[in-house]
Amino acid sequence: MDIVVCVKQVPDTTDIKVDPETGTLKRETAGTTMNPFDMYAVEEGLRLKEKLGGKVTVVTMGPPMAKEMLKIAIAMGVDEAVLLSDRALAGSDTWATSYAVAQMCKKLGYNMILFGKQAIDGDTAQVGPSVAEYLDIPCVTWVKKVREVSETEITVERMMEDGVDVVKATLPVALTVVKEINEPRLESLKGKMRAKKYEVPTWSLADVNGDPAMVGLKNSPTRVAKSWSPERKFGKAEMIDGADAAEKADKVFNRVKDLGFIK
Ligand SMILES: Cc1cc2nc3c(=O)[nH]c(=O)nc-3n(C[C@H](O)[C@H](O)[C@H](O)COP(=O)(O)OP(=O)(O)OC[C@H]3O[C@@H](n4cnc5c(N)ncnc54)[C@H](O)[C@@H]3O)c2cc1C
Repeated sequence: MDIVVCVKQVPDTTDIKVDPETGTLKRETAGTTMNPFDMYAVEEGLRLKEKLGGKVTVVTMGPPMAKEMLKIAIAMGVDEAVLLSDRALAGSDTWATSYAVAQMCKKLGYNMILFGKQAIDGDTAQVGPSVAEYLDIPCVTWVKKVREVSETEITVERMMEDGVDVVKATLPVALTVVKEINEPRLESLKGKMRAKKYEVPTWSLADVNGDPAMVGLKNSPTRVAKSWSPERKFGKAEMIDGADAAEKADKVFNRVKDLGFIK
């Protein structure tokens, strides 16, 4: 089973700064780490490999510093990691990012492609399904359990708001996973030592047969109109007590009325 896990580098802080000139994130001022949801995708890839054999490769499209983030996956035990980095990709939106990631997957070859359910910064949850669309393979989102998998077919549970969907799909397949799927392992000492020495190969757009007319800011169909950090607001808390539910409700009602919210 050849498994490709797509991971994204995200800021490791909630204190995000926005460049007032361009409206984009000041990524250089924040530390970076692996998108937390992608850790679950890496773990699931490793578990499937342990069961079925094969190879797990993690990939990311991002700036050169994303290599350090890929090494987290190497330390967890994946076989290989690849970075796609090219000036032509700067400013790519989710459509263009998905195209580039799909090109990487094509070059590597795959039976299964795993994603986190969404990135904690961009938060669109579009990249997994869009990559699948570019590759013309089925995609199952919000996977919380892999029930069965063979060379040709997979049965999974999807987490829904009001229960679970059981879905069967043919391979090759793309899955986006939720954190309920597993408990990611810690980096091992052996893994950390391998990661220290591991040279992450960097591919250019040409290396993945990418079309420059499909990527970059100019060719991205969406534009960020404005980005800003919301102001933090801290309100006051007030405890209201009473002998029973009716008295508590009365007190809450009168307090809200006193505050002028009820006429
Ligand atoms: C107009 C526009 C301009 C932008 N300009 C820039 C820019 O200049 N620089 C910049 O860094 N970002 C830029 N972005 C953001 C960038 O397009 C998104 O961060 C990226 O497409 C991923 O989308 P997302 O964060 O919503 O991921 P989601 O779709 O929420 O991610 C879902 C899953 O897809 C996988 N995934 C996501 N991104 C990647 C990736 N890069 N490589 C591998 N797997 C991945 C992960 O498994 C992740 O859990 C721009 C976006 C727009 C709309």
